[in-house]
Amino acid sequence: MADKNNKYPENVKGRFFVDKECIACDACVLAAPHHFAMHEGDGHAYVMKQPENETEEQVCKEALEGCPVEAIGSDGDGG
Ligand code: SF4
Repeated sequence: MADKNNKYPENVKGRFFVDKECIACDACVLAAPHHFAMHEGDGHAYVMKQPENETEEQVCKEALEGCPVEAIGSDGDGG
């Protein structure tokens, strides 16, 4: 399970985040390209945009469920 205390600082504020277990497999970026991006320099994914409606929420949830190392969390706080 992803740990919000271990998340990358590049994640935008909000519920979804990528933590430091990420192995940069690209699955979340392919599943939810409007929400997840790859940090090319540092070699890991991060959340660039939080979901703003139910459809987007579902897309992000699918990305979370598809992560092979459970590096995506949805219990991030506001900060
Ligand atoms: Fe990283 Fe998981 Fe996204 Fe793969 S699916 S890039 S391991 S956060």
